[in-house]
Amino acid sequence: MFTCRQIYDLITEYDEGSLETGERRQFEQHVVICPPCRGFLSQMRGTRDRLGQHSPPEFPAELEDSIVTAFRTWKKEQQ
Ligand SMILES: [Zn+2]
Repeated sequence: MFTCRQIYDLITEYDEGSLETGERRQFEQHVVICPPCRGFLSQMRGTRDRLGQHSPPEFPAELEDSIVTAFRTWKKEQQ
């Protein structure tokens, strides 16, 4: 059985699918019974998925323009 420390060390390899079958099984056995490690795993996957879908974060140019315009208008109104 892996310790939490080993889970942290192996989590990247597990996620990439590069663990051996035996290690992978032990990893999964630990994660099933250890809520903190399960949370850690799902958190890591969530981060990876977000990065994969939206990296690099892009701001539509028109949106940026309209924000700048709105800000300038607001500033003018304040003076
Ligand atoms: Zn653990």
